[in-house]
Amino acid sequence: MSSKLRQISDKLWTGELSTRIENPMMQMMGLEPLQDGLAFVSSFANVSALGTSEGLVLVDTGSFLLARQIHGSLREWTDARLHTAVFTHGHADHVFGVATFEEEAEHKGWAQPVVIAHEALAARFDRYKYTRGYNSIINERQFRVPGLQWPSEYRYPDVTYRDTKVVTVGGERLELFHGKGETDDGTWVWLPERKVLCTGDMFIWASPNCGNPQKAQRYPREWALALRQMAALGAETLLPGHGPPIWGADRVEQALTETAQLLESIVEQTVSRMNAGMRLDEIIGQVRAPEALLARPYLRPIYDEPEFVVRNLWRLYGGWYDGNPAHLKPARDEALGAEVAALAGGAAALVARAEALSLSGEHALACHLAEWAGKAAPGDAVVEAARSQVYARRADAEGSLMAQSVYLQASNTSS
Ligand SMILES: [Zn+2]
Repeated sequence: MSSKLRQISDKLWTGELSTRIENPMMQMMGLEPLQDGLAFVSSFANVSALGTSEGLVLVDTGSFLLARQIHGSLREWTDARLHTAVFTHGHADHVFGVATFEEEAEHKGWAQPVVIAHEALAARFDRYKYTRGYNSIINERQFRVPGLQWPSEYRYPDVTYRDTKVVTVGGERLELFHGKGETDDGTWVWLPERKVLCTGDMFIWASPNCGNPQKAQRYPREWALALRQMAALGAETLLPGHGPPIWGADRVEQALTETAQLLESIVEQTVSRMNAGMRLDEIIGQVRAPEALLARPYLRPIYDEPEFVVRNLWRLYGGWYDGNPAHLKPARDEALGAEVAALAGGAAALVARAEALSLSGEHALACHLAEWAGKAAPGDAVVEAARSQVYARRADAEGSLMAQSVYLQASNTSS
C-alpha cells in the first residue's frame, strides 16, 4: 500500500495501532490524492477537495489555526481557483480559510468563490460573536491552548438550503443532506459517482461529540438517523471530519451503523427513564453504553463520553431541574462547604478525607469533599494543595479529553 492514510486507517481499524497511543483525531498528515480529481487534506479538521473543470470544490476549509497550512497543501495539488466551498457545520475548526482564496482571486482577477451551508449556520456565527468571551474561555480549557482567542469574524455562506441540495460543478455532482447531530446546522455530502461520503463530524473516529459539557445543544437521536441514512448508500470511501478516511463498503457501513447503534442505545435508555419519572442522577447511575461498541477503535470515549450524552438528552427533552429538590434553589457553594466542613471537624479534616478517598480511587466523592473544603477555607495552602492533588489524580484516571481538561484546569487553579 503506497497510501499513508490507508496504512494508518487500516492499522487503527484492526487495532494494530491503539487509538489510546495514536489519537486519530490529532493526526495531521497533509494532503493525499485519493482518486483522480479527489484529494483529502488530513488536518485537525479534515478538508476534502475536488478538482473540477470549473475549479476547486472544497468540503470544509479548516480551522482558524491551520487554514494557511491547508491552503499551502492544496496549492501543491492544484492551481485552480476555488469555485465552491461547502461547510459541513459552523464549528470553528471547519470554516476558516476562504479569505485566503478570496485574496488570491482578487489578485488574479478570478471570480470569487461561493460558500454553501445549511440555513441555520449563520445564526451560529452570530452566537459565536455574541458569546465570544465564553467561547474563548471554554475552548482554551477544552483544548488546553493557553491564551486561545475565539474568532470575531466569520465567512457567512452565500447560499443556504434547508433539507437537501444538489450542487453540480464541472461535471462533479455533490448531494448535500441536512442532518442534526453535533450541531443544528449539519450537512453531510454524498458524491454518488465516486461512492464517497463526507460525513463532517457525524463520524470522527471516537465516541460521538454528543454530550460536550461546555457547549451548546447536541441531537443524539437525529444524529443516529442521519448515520442510518448514510449507511444505506453503499459508500465505498468515508471521509470523516477528523481522523483518516475509511476504505471499503463493509467497513464504512459498519462504522456508520455501529455509531448509530451506540447513540440509539443511550437515547432509548435515557428517554425511557425520563418518561418513567426518574431523576437525572438515577438515570446517570443506570444508563450503560454497550461495552462492545465502546471498545471499537472508532468509538472509544477518548474525546467526549456517553455519560455526558445522557445529560445532553436531559437538557434537550427536559429542563435544567434535575429532579433533586435540594438543587432547585440550592445553597451557595460557600455556605454548603462551610457547613460540611463544620460537620467534619474543619476544612483540614474534610480535605484529609478527600485525599484518602482519592488515593483509594474514589475520585468522584473525593472531588466533592475537596471542593467543599476549598470553599470552606479559601486561600488555605494545605487545603489548596490537597485539592489540587485530588483533581490531578482524577484527571489521570479519566479517559476523555473533555473530562481530563476540566479536572486538569481545576488542579491548576485555586477554588
Ligand atoms: Zn470538528
